[in-house]
Amino acid sequence: MTTSYRAEGLPYPQDAPVSQALFDRASAIVPGGVNSPVRAFRAVGGTPRFMASGAGAWLTDADGRRYVDLVCSWGPLIHGHAHPEIVAAVQAAAARGTSFGTPTAGEVDLAEEIVRRTAIDAVRLVNSGTEATMTAIRLARGYTGRAKIVKFAGCYHGHVDALLAAAGSGVATLGLPDSPGVTGATTAETIVLPYNDVAAVEAAFAENGTEIAAIITEAAAGNMGVVAPRDGFNQRLAEIAHAHGALLIIDEVMTGFRVSPGGWSGLDPVDADLYTFGKVMGGGLPAAAFGGRHEIMSRLAPAGPVYQAGTLSGNPLACAAGLASLRLADDATYKRLDELSATVGALASAELTKAGVPHRLSYAGNMFSIFFTEAEVVDYDSAKTQNAAAFKGFFHEMLSRGVYLPPSAFESWFVSTALDDQALEQIAAALPHAARAAGSTA
Ligand SMILES: *Cc1c(COP(=O)(O)O)cnc(C)c1O
Repeated sequence: MTTSYRAEGLPYPQDAPVSQALFDRASAIVPGGVNSPVRAFRAVGGTPRFMASGAGAWLTDADGRRYVDLVCSWGPLIHGHAHPEIVAAVQAAAARGTSFGTPTAGEVDLAEEIVRRTAIDAVRLVNSGTEATMTAIRLARGYTGRAKIVKFAGCYHGHVDALLAAAGSGVATLGLPDSPGVTGATTAETIVLPYNDVAAVEAAFAENGTEIAAIITEAAAGNMGVVAPRDGFNQRLAEIAHAHGALLIIDEVMTGFRVSPGGWSGLDPVDADLYTFGKVMGGGLPAAAFGGRHEIMSRLAPAGPVYQAGTLSGNPLACAAGLASLRLADDATYKRLDELSATVGALASAELTKAGVPHRLSYAGNMFSIFFTEAEVVDYDSAKTQNAAAFKGFFHEMLSRGVYLPPSAFESWFVSTALDDQALEQIAAALPHAARAAGSTA
């Protein structure tokens, strides 16, 4: 059943007829054929693989091809696919009923686990990282009575209107909307600054200090490729914000419970006011959260006037999956994730060096990515110096040899503890070919 053919205009064999047929059906009725843009492979070309199942470190697509998974659902699956304890927890919860629209014990258990692992006193559960950051901003504005928000170019905080101003310029701008449909009025209150640039933050506060409600930053940037904050950057943000009566929101949606038991802030504790979480805390189901000190969180309805709600918030299945996943995530888990990400990154870098491909291996905890550039990457502008064509060749060579990488050069690679020797061997076998392909397109 392996009909080999080449998708139009692509140099890569696209041996995925069932995925292609599904993609054709989807494209007729779903914009771009996908329910989240990066899944469509637009940055790398070719047919997006429709996955049929996952087990441990492995994915199986609709054509029956197996891949070592280095995406892990964009971060959540630190224990790999279909971990028996997580599956059992979800099955047991489903058998008790899928949703009640009332409080449940599982929500309290998950909230307690999050509070225990982090610097927050109180937490509200929501369904997605986007909801978490959107509400954290509303709460910061409600709490401070101010309108403006500072964010950093290249940091992604979900598709919140006011945060879709990433306008990659290196200077403070009156953020121009990145997406049609986001009005200038919405982003006029958003100040976009270069990441890792303390002087730019000081200048923005010198000019607008009394109007800024909050700074929001990724705990460690993972959405322009992986770019760690410079030493002391996050703490400086806290100090500058507080000196002007503003709050600091640390977005841990990607890093939270992935890079340490307490997230990035467990490795680099700072004096922030609000935190957002998602991905890992849902164990592969839709769950996210935001939290902070009682004094701020008590402004949230029904305790206070800042409104937020959700029909499925704290869903019993999502809470069961999240709690099971967090309870499995002990110190040994994080040690293993660190070792595996160091191993995979070093293997990839060694092959690229052998093939003479300029690159930078960039880590934040166990998250990492490879920038195909010679420049030091510290912010969005330097991240964009990379050679996207080199990544395309690299990606497709890995894919055709059974390794599933994020289909964009501006995304983190994610490991799970399920990566075993067989998976590592498959990665090691694919890398020399991928490195040569990157070299020939460089
Ligand atoms: C994924 C992500 C979000 C958005 O979360 P969704 O669940 O996709 O809405 C927000 N912030 C960061 C840092 C993320 O990585």
